[in-house]
Amino acid sequence: MKIVNDYETVIGLEIHAQMSTQSKMFCGCPTRFGEEPNTQTCPVCIGMPGVLPVINKLALEFTIKTGVALGCKISPFSRFARKNYFYPDLPKGYQISQYELPICEGGFVTLLVDDDEGGERRINLTRIHMEEDAGKNIHEGAGSFSYVDLNRAGVPLMEIVSEPDIKTPKEAAAYVRKIRTILRYLKVCDGNMEEGSLRCDANVSLRPQGVKELGVKTEIKNINSFKFIEKALEYEIQRQKRILNEGGRIIQETRLWNTTTGMTESMRSKEEAHDYRYFPEPDLVPLIVDEGWIAQIRKEIPELPDDKRQRFINDYRLPPYDAEFLVAEEVAADYFEDTVRLGSNPKDVSNWMMGEMMRLAKEKGKSDVPPVMPAHLNGLIKLVADGTINLKTAKIVFEDMFNTGKSAEELVKEKGLVQISDVGQLETTVEAVITENPNETARYKAGETKLTGFFVGEVMKKTKGKANPKAVNEILRRLLG
Ligand code: ADP
Ligand code: MG
Ligand code: ZN
Repeated sequence: MKIVNDYETVIGLEIHAQMSTQSKMFCGCPTRFGEEPNTQTCPVCIGMPGVLPVINKLALEFTIKTGVALGCKISPFSRFARKNYFYPDLPKGYQISQYELPICEGGFVTLLVDDDEGGERRINLTRIHMEEDAGKNIHEGAGSFSYVDLNRAGVPLMEIVSEPDIKTPKEAAAYVRKIRTILRYLKVCDGNMEEGSLRCDANVSLRPQGVKELGVKTEIKNINSFKFIEKALEYEIQRQKRILNEGGRIIQETRLWNTTTGMTESMRSKEEAHDYRYFPEPDLVPLIVDEGWIAQIRKEIPELPDDKRQRFINDYRLPPYDAEFLVAEEVAADYFEDTVRLGSNPKDVSNWMMGEMMRLAKEKGKSDVPPVMPAHLNGLIKLVADGTINLKTAKIVFEDMFNTGKSAEELVKEKGLVQISDVGQLETTVEAVITENPNETARYKAGETKLTGFFVGEVMKKTKGKANPKAVNEILRRLLG
């Protein structure tokens, strides 16, 4: 038996994105999350006989918009198909999806490669199609009861299918992040992974380095966090490697990621397309989309993250890393520009946003809308720039601004935080520090200049952090010779 150590990983992802429409795909029921089970249902979405579905036009528009944004070809003629299978959360016994004629084909996303050179990787898309979600089975009471909640049944989904172009688990997570960002820019999906608005099936196979044809893949179903995408794929790659190296064969199957054990588990052998007995949905007319409508939708597409990132790099001279961070959420990008427009230096703004703002948002769980207004951050940056406060004080003020919503000027006045730049006053303090620390003073004079930090620290202690560090440094150098 030949042991191959050099395997190439091949990954393709299917992302299910719940569209942000008020009503379901084929009926008027609401799509709100978290309502009492079975309160958002009607004869259409619980699969009563004799009812007829009606296509949600906004869902179609959202899918076209996404297709245009991702560079897909929008099919002038497409149609829905029935995918037949039995499951308790699918009362009709079939799901309305699209099969041989999806609404969008092709397209791609670009990912930034982690190499400092701003290199890019292009991940091609196979297709985007529309479908309806199934309900949800709930198992309760130590396995003694099972319930079905059909609130989610019929909720509109977009399925975004990638080509097997992804090479690593990290890249897979980056790809999903990018898709999520774009969907949020387009306002077609809220991207809330905890609530299941965005989930992904990860397909993965290995092949010996240099071999052309694809290996047998397994599919890991319904992963709902970026962390789990990486972990599940890493685990699955190792599992497949072990089997292959032992001379075994990979079975094409659907697996589940167990968040408790950190392993994937076999769920079922993978069904083939023909098992579903797809056929054109007889209750719905084909979709004919004209160029005029596509052109109108195209006009409504906002500046997308890649373009915005490039503009931020060009216009604000930001490092690519900063720009990438800022454009990941449109609210963050807008916040950045609003603050810069008020006069702040762009790099200062991005530093505050990537540093303290992120830290506090994580700590306090307010990540979406920054509680510090652009005008207030701008005010703080101005106070640092004109020397009213030093950076250390500014961090304290920033946290207060974050907690209270007050302006920097107000807080600095309230707490008497104005920086001490008065040379006479600082000299007195520095002199005191020197007399109180004869040992350090002697060592400094003997050449141990790295003790500067110690002296500055002592001065800061005495001034409650308000001393102007630049002035203190100058005075120290002068007095210590
Ligand atoms: P299935 O019919 O089993 O769902 P598809 O051909 O529809 O398979 O592909 C589903 C996803 O799996 C796509 O994202 C595709 O890129 C990916 N994929 C297909 N073949 C492989 C493979 N051998 N290894 C990894 N991913 C694959
Ligand atoms: Mg599939
Ligand atoms: Zn309904």
